[in-house]
Order: sequence, then structure tokens, then C-alpha cells
Amino acid sequence: MPNPPLPEEISIELGLDDADDDAALRARAARVLGVREQDLPELCVRKRSLDARKGRVRFHVLLGLGPPPAAPLGDPPPREVELPARVVIVGDGPAGMFAAYALARRGVASMVLDRGKPVQPRRRDLKLLNQQGLVDPDSNYCFGEGGAGTFSDGKLYTRSHKRGNVRDVIEVLALHGAPSAILVEARPHIGSNLLPQVVTALREHLERVGVELRFGARVTELLVEPGRRAVAGVRLADGTEIAAQAVVLATGHSARDVFELAARAGVALEAKPFALGVRIEHPQPLVNQIQYGKAAGHPKLPAAAYKLVAEVDRRGVFSFCMCPGGWVVPASTEPGALVVNGMSLSRRDSPFANSGLVVAVELEDLAQAGLTGPFAGVELQRRIERAAFAAGGGALAAPATRATDFVAGRPSSSVPKSSYVPGLTAGDVGAVLDGAGLPIADRLRRALREFDRRMRGYLSDEAVLIGVESRTSCPVRMPRHPETLEAVDLPGLYPAGEGAGFAGGIVSAAVDGLRIGEQIAARLSRASA
Ligand SMILES: Cc1cc2nc3c(=O)[nH]c(=O)nc-3n(C[C@H](O)[C@H](O)[C@H](O)COP(=O)(O)OP(=O)(O)OC[C@H]3O[C@@H](n4cnc5c(N)ncnc54)[C@H](O)[C@@H]3O)c2cc1C
Repeated sequence: MPNPPLPEEISIELGLDDADDDAALRARAARVLGVREQDLPELCVRKRSLDARKGRVRFHVLLGLGPPPAAPLGDPPPREVELPARVVIVGDGPAGMFAAYALARRGVASMVLDRGKPVQPRRRDLKLLNQQGLVDPDSNYCFGEGGAGTFSDGKLYTRSHKRGNVRDVIEVLALHGAPSAILVEARPHIGSNLLPQVVTALREHLERVGVELRFGARVTELLVEPGRRAVAGVRLADGTEIAAQAVVLATGHSARDVFELAARAGVALEAKPFALGVRIEHPQPLVNQIQYGKAAGHPKLPAAAYKLVAEVDRRGVFSFCMCPGGWVVPASTEPGALVVNGMSLSRRDSPFANSGLVVAVELEDLAQAGLTGPFAGVELQRRIERAAFAAGGGALAAPATRATDFVAGRPSSSVPKSSYVPGLTAGDVGAVLDGAGLPIADRLRRALREFDRRMRGYLSDEAVLIGVESRTSCPVRMPRHPETLEAVDLPGLYPAGEGAGFAGGIVSAAVDGLRIGEQIAARLSRASA
């Protein structure tokens, strides 16, 4: 009798001690399908995820029956561009890089301008930031080649699959040196030791096909055609003017001077909801214990992650950008102001787990804090960033409170060891947050009690809250036309990525950049047809 037809893919579950090499997967697949191993075609892993729900830790593996897809990664690659460049891209973060990439796939040249430095010299500025508390407003964790994503955790998951081609972004990153595991892991991540190489490889690829990248090129003005018919180009800090038929503004959520220069050029801006809070740090073994139970410490298990969400007073309170085995870093972009964030290396092997723990700030909250207009959220961020700097005692030391003291509403007199290199100052983070004039600390307290019910031990004496996490999301939006993707009142200007309010992470910013690049290429080819 002929064998029944085989499915295209099957899902198998593996326990921690089950073998997971090719031969073992093949044997398991044959057993699940009730066929002989020799009757199976070639197998390939399509997706791999870790499941630690309900106290039982296992892996789910989705196996494709048949060879992996034949198309090369990141198809099609960029091709030789036709010079001169008619598109200027401001910002070499994920949105800007991928906009240039999409344009180059269609042979359209662009010039990418970034205020910061290439990854190698940027590393030296990060050292000064960590060791001496010196903030260079053009070169820091947010500004420079690769944008805010270069020295980050490099998590590559996004909720915005509907908005564009996430797979394309992941494939392009893998093509430029990111580990191939990102193609199959359900929660892919790269890490700060590998991200700089990926960003450099992407840049070199773009340069080879004729794209021009300039660093140390801070844009200070948008040039507009007489009568405001369209954008005409940009002016740099040194006075150089660069003409363009299209300008992509992909400058990220921390370029406050860009919001101001856009406003000066008459671009519409509006305040949008965002989030504010702290970074919480635990010993990683404690988080492993809570998440994995008895399986904690198993050599196959990665440093455990978590995701927490609660609602307090109709406001979302949630963990954000959780970095297992990571470091808390100073992400300030202005002297005299303190912002913290998190990063990790690919192995995620620091002894600490950190995560943003933030409260949603709605437009009515801004009004309650006495702030109005498009820059209301920026003003609120500044208030608490300056308060945090002062409470830390300078040189980017960060104010910190044990989680148990925080929920009890008292300052800490000592804090546990931390990954934060500039150092922690034991004190009262709640008082810093109260400086915003909103009940952010109170909402965090109530959510923390709820989180401890869900993750027993989360509210520990060994957990420390570090102030402040103020740049999880952009407080400003540049509205754009839903079809042309141009700024509503300035043709030829394309607000892109997180700073425009259309992304919230590396992948969503890259996806937005790809969309913008494709849109501009289509427009320019229609115009020249
Ligand atoms: C420490 C840290 C860790 C993070 N970890 C993760 C993570 O694990 N996963 C994730 O998805 N997201 C993470 N993020 C967020 C993520 O990096 C951003 O969402 C993403 O980089 C936004 O991309 P973008 O291209 O819109 O802007 P950005 O990456 O912010 O890039 C903007 C670029 O514009 C340049 N620029 C600004 N102003 C000017 C100007 N006037 N002239 C010229 N150039 C200018 C800047 O130098 C910068 O390079 C992290 C962020 C930080 C700071």
C-alpha cells in the first residue's frame, strides 16, 4: 500500500534532556508521522521556541518536510545605484539604514547623514560615558552609526507584523553576519558584541553599490522650496547645504533638536502617549528560579526572560525591553540629565536581569501635569531626567531603591550590587518620579504587588529600581499621509521610524524604513517615466 501523503511541516515537543541533533529530530519526526525514517524527505527547522508555562519547561520545534527555501537571504540584494543621489536620509539607525537599503534595491542612490560616529570611535565615547559620566550630545547610546539599536540587547521581535515585511529585515540582518539562529528562533536576539559588526557589514555593502554615508553630519535645518511646495534639502551644522528631491527624517526618539527644527520648518507635530518609569534589576539566578523552577540551571536553558503587564487607574504598567543576562546602561543624550536603558551580549551571561518597568502617560496626564502642546511629553521627560541626575549626585550615578523599600514608600539606605557601571546612589526613586507631577510611582507600586503575585519572589530585597527609564517610546508624532507616507503638510519629507512615532524598536523601525524606501523609489521612477 502507498504511504499516505506527508504534511508540509510538523510540530514536535522536546524535553530538556531529549537529544536535538539532526538524527534525533529525524527519528522523532518519523515516529510522530508513523513512517520509516528512510521515507522522510530532507527536514529543516523552521521555528524553535522555549515554553516554560505551567511549571513545565520544553522546546517546541516546527520542522519543514523538504529542503529549505531556495531563494537567497535578503532577496533581492542592493544593486549599483544611479548617481547623483536625489534622496537624503537623515539618521543611520535601523529606519534610515533600511530606507537606504530598499532604495538601493531599486538602484536609487541616497546620501545617509548621521550626527554621530561610526561604530568603532563611538565605542570610545561610550567608555567615557560609563567611566567618567561624560555625555557627548552627538555620540552616545542613542546617536551614531546604527542608531540606538547598535549597543542594545538586539531583541528582534515586534508586534507590528501587519505593517510590513519583518522576515525581510531578519534575513537582511542574517545576510550581514547576524547569527543564523535568528532565522528560526521565535524570540531572536543578536547582542551588543555582534550588532556593531552587522551594522558595519550593512554599511560596507551599501557603500559598495554607491550609497554615500557621512558621519559627524548633524542636520540643523530643513530647506523648503519657495511657496512651501516641497522640501528642497537640508543644512548641516557646518553650514553645508545639500539639495534633495526627497528627505527621510529617521532621527529617533531622542533627537529633540530635530523636533524643534521640524517645527521651525512648519512641519506638523503632535504630542502622543508614551511611557515613563524605571529600570528594575534582579540577580539572574533569581529570575531563572522563578521562571524555570526545578529546571533552573539546566545547561540547555538560556537566561530566563519575562514579560509583565497590569492595568492601574486605567493606565498600562508594563515591563519593557527586558534584557536577561544584561547590563543597565546610561542612555543620556544631554548633559545634566540621566536616562537608563538595558543591553546584553549575545551569550546573555551577565549575572543580572534587567527590564524597563514603565507606566503609560496619556495626553490627559500631560494636561494634568500642566503641560500642553506638541513638546509636552518632551518637557515631562526632561523634568524627571534632570531630577534623576541631581538625585544620583552627578557623573551619571543613578538614584536607586530596593524594590521592597519602594513599595513601602521609603528610601533605601543601601542597594545591592548592580551591573550599572557609573554606580548607584541609594535613595528614593519614588521621589524622583513624583517630580513629574503625576502618580507614576504610586501606579508602579501597585503594579509591582500584582507582578509579585504572578512571579513569586519578583518583589525581592535583592531587586533594585534604577531611575529613570524615560525613552521607551517617543512622546511626539509627525503625522504623515497614510498612502504617500509624506509629512501631511510638506511634500517630499518622509518622517520615518521611532522619532516620527511610527515604530517602537529595531525591527519595527527597519520595517518602516523599508516601506519608506520603496515608496520613494516608486515615486521617483513614476516621475522619470
Ligand atoms: C540601550 C538601548 C537598548 C535597546 N534595546 C532594544 C532591543 O533590544 N530591541 C529593540 O527592538 N529595540 C531596542 N532599543 C530601541 C531601538 O534601538 C530603537 O527603537 C530603534 O533604534 C529606533 O530606530 P530609528 O532608526 O527610528 O532611530 P534611532 O535608532 O534612534 O536612530 C536615529 C539616528 O539619527 C541620528 N540623528 C539624530 N539627530 C540627527 C541630526 N540632527 N542629524 C543627523 N543625524 C541625526 C542619530 O545619531 C541616530 O543614529 C534599544 C534602545 C537603547 C537606547
